[in-house]
Amino acid sequence: RVVTRFAPSPTGYLHIGGARTALFNWLYARRMGGKMLLRIEDTDRERSTEAAVSAIIEGLHWLGLDADEPPVSQFARAARHREVAEALVAAGKAYYCYASPAELDEMREKAKAEKRPPRYDGRWRDRDPSEAPAGVKPVIRIKAPLDGETVVQDRVQGEVRFPNKDLDDFILLRSDGTPTYMHAVVVDDHDMGVTHIIRGDDHLTNAGRQTLIYRAMDWDVPVFAHIPLIHGADGAKLSKRHGALGVEAYREMGYLPVGLKNYLVRLGWSHGDDEIISPEEMIAWFDIDDVNRGAARFDFAKLDAVNGHWIRASGDAELVDMLMSVREHLPNGAILRSEPDEVVRDRLLRAMPGLKERAKTLVELAESSAYLFAARPLAIEPKAEEILAGGGREVVSGLLPVLEQVADWNAASVEAAVRDYAEQQGLKLGKAAQPLRAALTGKTTSPGVFDVLDVLGRDETLARLREQAA
Ligand code: GLU
Repeated sequence: RVVTRFAPSPTGYLHIGGARTALFNWLYARRMGGKMLLRIEDTDRERSTEAAVSAIIEGLHWLGLDADEPPVSQFARAARHREVAEALVAAGKAYYCYASPAELDEMREKAKAEKRPPRYDGRWRDRDPSEAPAGVKPVIRIKAPLDGETVVQDRVQGEVRFPNKDLDDFILLRSDGTPTYMHAVVVDDHDMGVTHIIRGDDHLTNAGRQTLIYRAMDWDVPVFAHIPLIHGADGAKLSKRHGALGVEAYREMGYLPVGLKNYLVRLGWSHGDDEIISPEEMIAWFDIDDVNRGAARFDFAKLDAVNGHWIRASGDAELVDMLMSVREHLPNGAILRSEPDEVVRDRLLRAMPGLKERAKTLVELAESSAYLFAARPLAIEPKAEEILAGGGREVVSGLLPVLEQVADWNAASVEAAVRDYAEQQGLKLGKAAQPLRAALTGKTTSPGVFDVLDVLGRDETLARLREQAA
């Protein structure tokens, strides 16, 4: 049975690249009828925080990528890491090394002078611990093969060969008894039953060393799949200057989980030319063998387009629920608190068919809904004021008595009344609609203007028009 895992270090937020790694792991587990586990790599006590752990778990939950079991803390498994390192010593596959910092410095200097990468020279590899200097706490190093090569069959990168002379006798356990990253990851992945390691290709070189640990323990080596990192539009590795890195920032920008996932899944993976991919299709189609080797570039315009699609594809009631539940995270979410929740919900629901056609994010959706809740006197934007000042107020005054006569108020009946009036006055429909829109929304763009009249209702419409009548 396939077991994947996502293994973030809790040092900040859920990184957008990490979210994509989690998505690939989650999808592959779903596709194969397996499970995805979450391991919090919190061995770095200085940099790990509880807040970061919560941000990761919440971010995954928001995206619908919950792990199938409670998270595992790597730090909590320190005793087990030590036990395995000691077992390797007992089996002759690892050894205690008492080299002093000064000796290690010397090795580094020598490598520098010879212009080659630093490498531990194996001086304690075959020495007896009885020769150990008194009072020195040793590290445990792996006894790496001296020649030949270690081959990793990577499902994305293909066959990757590491000459063993480059892998050297790296440290498994530090002198204070804590494991190195290299060692802890292998022990945890083995104990958690991980069968497939899908992670960023910045870990590719680690796969060689990690393979040595699996072999030394006689454990099955899991399948590796190192996926390309995400780059910014300029081709450089994604960083702060490209824009937000934390998933929660994407929630605050008003992206839908389904939209963000659709965008992320296509960063490095594709299914023909399909741009829009539903969560169900992702599960049915995803395969690590189809992940590309080249780095993917993050493109906000594409993200917006994909998200806009998913807003239009969402049900009206669903969008209202989403807006209400996410409003505390939206910069303009206060708009949705200007009336009692029931009123807000009701108006949003009535206006949603018109609103959702134009919005690419929930922030834009909230923004365009503002006219529904605006207090009178309505604030008028400069462009709308231009329309009203340039003859628009006269049109509003002419339309007011006509609309007051409309008996059965709905989009069709108000449209008929406005059309009649425009025809009588020899006005193009737009010349009547523009001032109406400006007077009712304070803006020059809005959903269809007759829908606006319908959603606002008779009383509110007439009250707003009276404010602007000449
Ligand atoms: N904790 C590592 C990271 O945050 C990932 C380790 C792994 O996936 O093997 O990059």
